[in-house]
Amino acid sequence: MSEIAIGVLALQGDFEEHIQMLARLGVATREVRKPEELRGLDGLIIPGGESTSMGLVAECWGLVEPLRAWVHAGRPAWGTCAGLILLADRAVGQKRGGQPLIGGLDVTVNRNYFGRQTDSFETMLSAPALGAEPIPAVFIRAPAIVELGADVEPLASLVGKTGEPIYVAVRQGAILATAFHPELTDDDRWHRYFLSMVGEVGD
Ligand code: GLN
Repeated sequence: MSEIAIGVLALQGDFEEHIQMLARLGVATREVRKPEELRGLDGLIIPGGESTSMGLVAECWGLVEPLRAWVHAGRPAWGTCAGLILLADRAVGQKRGGQPLIGGLDVTVNRNYFGRQTDSFETMLSAPALGAEPIPAVFIRAPAIVELGADVEPLASLVGKTGEPIYVAVRQGAILATAFHPELTDDDRWHRYFLSMVGEVGD
């Protein structure tokens, strides 16, 4: 694999698991906590965790604007779970007063669509862009995308509580977003998909 470096936002949440998965794929990573640590990266992962805390810490550390600039410049970014929430242009079910969003992804996300901590589950998803084999997905207090903008490509969906379609993996240009946690499974296809978006086919 040629030299690429992927940044993993390391303010809070399960950034370590993403780093381990990328290490397994032979990809160099950098933990990002300061604006200058974004410099020179080829892609950025915003992990799962708690989007309100992550947003507040990002605000405290002066990272919200640099992250917005990164994403809005069309550089590859992947948000998983809380990361998806932060990348969404619109969120419902937010805490009072809202939370800072990075935005860039033209979707409406329902922040706790799948409920609270106890409402975590694992399922097999069909994601044709990743191959015919269904892919395991771990949902933890997971969000769901309830509205897609015109330029957003759905990659995986589920049937919602009232029979409506909800989207749990989407792509818009250089932005990938998944409502679940691929870094908590042994299946590295989402990581390889993101690397292929970064310009590196991770075979
Ligand atoms: N629903 C959580 C939030 O609002 C995200 C949960 C997760 O990342 N596992 O941040």
